[in-house]
Amino acid sequence: MTTTMAASRISRKFLNLLPVCKKRQHISIQYLHSQISNSTNHRFLSSSTQESYDIVIVGGGIVGMATAREILVRHPNLSVAVLEKESKISPHQSGHNSGVIHAGIYYTPGSLKAKLCVEGVELLYKYCDENNVPYKKCGKLIVAVTPEEIPRLEGLLKRGNENGVKDLKMVESHEIKEYEPNCVGLKAIHSPHTGIIDYAEVTRSYGRTFEKAGGKIYTNFEVKSLDVTKESSPESSSGMKHPVTVRGDNQAVQCRYVVTCGGLHSDRLAELSGCNREPRIVPFRGDYLLLKQEKCDLVRGNIYPVPDPRFPFLGVHYTPRMNGDVWLGPNAVLSFKREGYNLTDFNLKDTFDALSFRGLRKLALRNLAFGIKEMYRGFYIGATVKQLQRYVPELAREDVIRGPSGVRAQALDREGQLVDDFVFDSGTGDLGSRILHVRNAPSPAATSSLSIANMVTDKVEQTFQL
Ligand SMILES: Cc1cc2nc3c(=O)[nH]c(=O)nc-3n(C[C@H](O)[C@H](O)[C@H](O)COP(=O)(O)OP(=O)(O)OC[C@H]3O[C@@H](n4cnc5c(N)ncnc54)[C@H](O)[C@@H]3O)c2cc1C
Repeated sequence: MTTTMAASRISRKFLNLLPVCKKRQHISIQYLHSQISNSTNHRFLSSSTQESYDIVIVGGGIVGMATAREILVRHPNLSVAVLEKESKISPHQSGHNSGVIHAGIYYTPGSLKAKLCVEGVELLYKYCDENNVPYKKCGKLIVAVTPEEIPRLEGLLKRGNENGVKDLKMVESHEIKEYEPNCVGLKAIHSPHTGIIDYAEVTRSYGRTFEKAGGKIYTNFEVKSLDVTKESSPESSSGMKHPVTVRGDNQAVQCRYVVTCGGLHSDRLAELSGCNREPRIVPFRGDYLLLKQEKCDLVRGNIYPVPDPRFPFLGVHYTPRMNGDVWLGPNAVLSFKREGYNLTDFNLKDTFDALSFRGLRKLALRNLAFGIKEMYRGFYIGATVKQLQRYVPELAREDVIRGPSGVRAQALDREGQLVDDFVFDSGTGDLGSRILHVRNAPSPAATSSLSIANMVTDKVEQTFQL
């Protein structure tokens, strides 16, 4: 069942538990007795070899790491662990994206996306300044190249201003070159506070501050099942204190509460705790082209098209990278593997899941022409270059090579509607009341990671009565 605020769903038994700080005293004594100190803040149950935590976060992407860090910042006495299935943190969306720090222009005023982006961008710049994470405020132009795009561009400026984005300015055709000497257009919005950053580095930094605060990160731990123990085993000294068992292939941890931030697998993780599979995740790959080194001075900052309101993606754009490269893209094509970064990657289960979902079939029927065009552009670089030449005519086919790609976790309902905002969910019964799922954290979730973490932590405090 999808929840907004789940406090009402907490069982009486749950509310009767001792306050957290009292529980900590007991656990600390147990910890001293156990004489095991291989990590700062995680504990062994005396009767078992399984480690136990107050809260386990599943998913070591930017949302999971930011949330884990925020929980420990607010509750330094809690023990918190992050479980990540790959060998490092930020291996998927958080490490495969455009790296743009969005200012908050595009999003519907009043939506969570708008609020969290505008708050998040301030928090992110502040965090980076305080923690020496490099970024560049290189700005951005959103450029209208046809007369039909001008009213949409004006609408975007109004939106951005309503959202509280600072210092946006409409730029006339002849002024565009002051910002981007090689760019052409009829009109453009200039956003000076848009920036670029390496989100994998941001995630690693969150990880470091989390570990310094006593958090524990497990890598190569793919969560396969979640169970709740109803009765304490007679020999267990911890008993019902950590009734949830989170299992991987060869390992398990015990905890009181679980938060999942599973990105491309958020629907599958939700299903593990008895939640509905919907909204379902459908993977959309985005391929980038790379400007050859000698051509990287063609652009100074980000150059974006006016987005087509029918689609959730922003359109192919020019994006400088922190290392001096320039990426062009990404497009948006259905991926036949959730974590498939190559054109030909295929996974039978992922493909079956996607194609057997009526939501995707409905979406595909409605957008067949767009989908075919995007696939065509994916195969033929020249077609993408043609699109990009509308903004920088000097760009030539021979200036680009194929670059990296990313896969977006696009949440979709069974009517084929793209789920645009954040979705939280809990399971049912004893297990469900101890789990919170972040089911949809779409772009600009990397920009908004710290404000999302604030919101998730508020929800964790309410749901679990911390
Ligand atoms: C092509 C592309 C471009 C983008 N550009 C931007 C941009 O410029 N600016 C911006 O702000 N946002 C951008 N985004 C969006 C942003 O990257 C994502 O919204 C954000 O990274 C989501 O973070 P996450 O932690 O929710 O997901 P992820 O980073 O995908 O993390 C989820 C983690 O959960 C782990 N996991 C899943 N299942 C399990 C399991 N069973 N057990 C253990 N671990 C598990 C995964 O391995 C993964 O590490 C872009 C995204 C894409 C794909």
